Amino acid sequence: MEDNKNSFPVDIKDLEIINIFQNIELKQLESQLDQIRKLTLPGGETLLSPSSMNEEIFILLKGELMICLQDNDHHAIARILPGDCVGELSIIDDRAPSAYVKTSGQCTLLAIHRDVLTTMFEQQPDLAVNLLKLLTERFRQNNTILSNSFKLQREYRNKAERDALTGLHNRAWMNDVFPKQLELSERIGQKVTLMMIDADYFKKVNDNHGHVAGDETLKHLCKVISENLRETDLLVRFGGEELVVLMPGTIVTQAHVVAERVRSLVESQPVILDNGKNVDVTISIGLAEWSEEESVENLIEKADRALYSAKESGRNKVGIF
Ligand code: GH3
Ligand code: MG
Ligand code: MG
Repeated sequence: MEDNKNSFPVDIKDLEIINIFQNIELKQLESQLDQIRKLTLPGGETLLSPSSMNEEIFILLKGELMICLQDNDHHAIARILPGDCVGELSIIDDRAPSAYVKTSGQCTLLAIHRDVLTTMFEQQPDLAVNLLKLLTERFRQNNTILSNSFKLQREYRNKAERDALTGLHNRAWMNDVFPKQLELSERIGQKVTLMMIDADYFKKVNDNHGHVAGDETLKHLCKVISENLRETDLLVRFGGEELVVLMPGTIVTQAHVVAERVRSLVESQPVILDNGKNVDVTISIGLAEWSEEESVENLIEKADRALYSAKESGRNKVGIF
């Protein structure tokens, strides 16, 4: 950006709208004016790029600048309005700009070379303070953007790992966490039991009360079950009205006690729907104790067979593999 063919003389009035020149005695900078370039650029021009070094600070007088991550990108991550500047970082740390700066339409700018700016700092130390303030503001803006994007990431992650209806973890989460838990249990020589739960005759709940009531019943079931587990038990909505619980540090006889308690609690507490009607629902449970080096799939397969036997023997039962 060294060509001067588009350069115009700079007037002291040009400096008045510039943020970093606020509260500065502009008269004292008059002797530097002929060293500042004033230029007009058409739209779509690349003013700064990470591939070329920059020795000037550019201050926008008219138009709009876009900050883009890629040269051929039309999506601006930020926009610069009149009075604001770009290029200040590379003239301070002597490194290439970190993004592309492009004109979004015709723009009028002032370009001040690093050496001229240094002389201005000597004459008007408040100018350096103003630039520091501007940098601080940019730093804070970046922090806010970062912290918002972390929040969003957490939210997306949560959405991807939880089931919307019940709020329980889903299978994607299970596939990620269960193998890690078994690996840990293996290392510390801990027993683990897996519990598989399926609601009995749930199709009838839907048929008799409607799907919405079915959803409500399912949520109630999940609540009763999750409230009666330990903090360390890992509860997952496996699919439909089937739940799976991985219970680290639990042998199958201990898990049996828990399963019986949950089964009988569900049986004794009918769900009271929003419309006041009662729904009687029961659950069947299958239990399987994990053998060292056994995969999650195999363990689930065992618990599923135990569940099947509980269903076969009349439902509202606990079966053990
Ligand atoms: P069984 O005792 O043999 O388990 O009988 P079942 O009727 O519960 O049979 P099965 O487990 O095969 O079918 C489960 C039914 O649960 C099928 C489906 O209509 C219903 N269901 C699954 N997920 C949901 C859900 O999110 N909401 C509602 N309302 N119903 C569901
Ligand atoms: Mg069922
Ligand atoms: Mg089922």
